[in-house]
Amino acid sequence: MSSTAVSPDVMAKYEPVIGLEVHVQLATRTKIFCACPTSFGAPPNTNVCPVCLGLPGALPVLNRQVVELAIQSGLALNCQIRQESIFARKNYFYPDLPKGYQISQYDRPVAEHGWVDIRLPDGREKRIGVTRAHLEDDAGKSMHEGFRDSEHYTYVDLNRTGTPLVEIVSEPDMRSSEEAYAYLTELKLLMQFCGVSTCDMEKGHLRCDANVSVRLRGAEKFGTKAEVKNLNSFRFLKMALDYEIQRQIALLESGGKVVQETRLYNPDLDETISMRSKEHAHDYRYFPEPDLLPLRISDGWLAEIRSAMPELPPVKRKRFITEYGLREYDADVLTATRDLSAYFDEVVKVSGDARQSANWVMGDLAGLLKANNKEVAESPVSAANLGELVKFIAKGDISNKIAKDVLEKMYETGETATAIIDREGLRQISDTSALDKIVDEVIAANPKQVEQYRSGKTQVIGFLVGQVMKASKGQANPPMVNEMLRAKLG
Ligand code: ADP
Ligand code: ZN
Ligand code: MG
Repeated sequence: MSSTAVSPDVMAKYEPVIGLEVHVQLATRTKIFCACPTSFGAPPNTNVCPVCLGLPGALPVLNRQVVELAIQSGLALNCQIRQESIFARKNYFYPDLPKGYQISQYDRPVAEHGWVDIRLPDGREKRIGVTRAHLEDDAGKSMHEGFRDSEHYTYVDLNRTGTPLVEIVSEPDMRSSEEAYAYLTELKLLMQFCGVSTCDMEKGHLRCDANVSVRLRGAEKFGTKAEVKNLNSFRFLKMALDYEIQRQIALLESGGKVVQETRLYNPDLDETISMRSKEHAHDYRYFPEPDLLPLRISDGWLAEIRSAMPELPPVKRKRFITEYGLREYDADVLTATRDLSAYFDEVVKVSGDARQSANWVMGDLAGLLKANNKEVAESPVSAANLGELVKFIAKGDISNKIAKDVLEKMYETGETATAIIDREGLRQISDTSALDKIVDEVIAANPKQVEQYRSGKTQVIGFLVGQVMKASKGQANPPMVNEMLRAKLG
């Protein structure tokens, strides 16, 4: 970094401009134009057929589910869905591209003119434009290591060839690496939420290229951009952007010029290096794909998909806050995944108490799941069962302390709260006659504390309440005990 170090004062003179191009692998079982499986980790070159190998004469057939997922992703991004879109050939030569072209979409993509609302660490919201989302097929993989003759050869695995992708192109609306990070976070959440993709970055299901330029603050025109590739984690995205922004500012400050080029991020060195300049940029010679008809999406199909869209995180978050009265933080946590938010909604429906439900889902249940390395979808305590437990708590039928034990038993046995509470006689004693006796006994057994209370040291009541709780094995209702003690002690 030393060669590009720039003082904060100088950095502050410039404004970064960032646009992201994100590839999302669609969660289909089979490929976009053939019936080969998309499964990860199969032996090299086994998930292939004449279509995805690009053998002469083989013809592509569009996978209907791919289109459905692309429409869902477009809707999640607030895009207009283009009801007639066109596939186009993007021509280039590369060993992992057997057809010699990628089937993509060019001037008529399936979705365009959308937006994503991002939330920044300081709580601010900002709307980032989505230029377009288009369908395309993935290329294979060049393998440079791990084979017998890797010293001399590059190997090619074509299992990934023909895997369905949507490429989501943003407007150059982001102004810092934090905004880019927040955008990718929200995008990932949206895609996962509507089931479009697992977005598993380790498996390459979410890949991001960043376009970066800088301009003097107040300037109207954008600067020349560089495109940074190979950002396969959120951390690398942020680090690469921070590096690239500094590099460009240092270059301009020293009288140089940013050249339009593609750069590769190297996480080991934390720097970007030039891969190819504009002069060597590809001319992809796009033209309409002659082997595929235009993609027509009927009104009926579009309406059907639209009405089946799940409630998405931004709407859910707002509902949890306004309707349930949750704090923003809790609403964020509980909308982190579709499974968790669905589970929580069900708990609230049964318990009737959203705040208590939030406490128990995020607290004790989350703790048990984490300790057992389980996801909420695999919880041995169903949402309805937890809801019932929370209802007992909210009504004051059992104390918090007893509820914790009951939840642990529910987790171990899968039994309902009612079954455990009734069998073990755990309901809180809330009728005065039963408590009366215990309270009298505690008063009789603790003359010293009673004396202290009567002489004005009223905080000693806490001790006496504790004694009653102990004598009732935790089943007394603490506020009621408190009230009874005060009445009896005058
Ligand atoms: P290209 O013709 O090089 O593909 P596009 O105009 O299609 O460029 O934009 C590609 C991506 O680069 C988009 O995400 C866009 O928002 C972003 N972008 C465009 N111009 C700039 C710029 N000056 N600075 C930063 N990002 C930019
Ligand atoms: Zn195939
Ligand atoms: Mg472009």
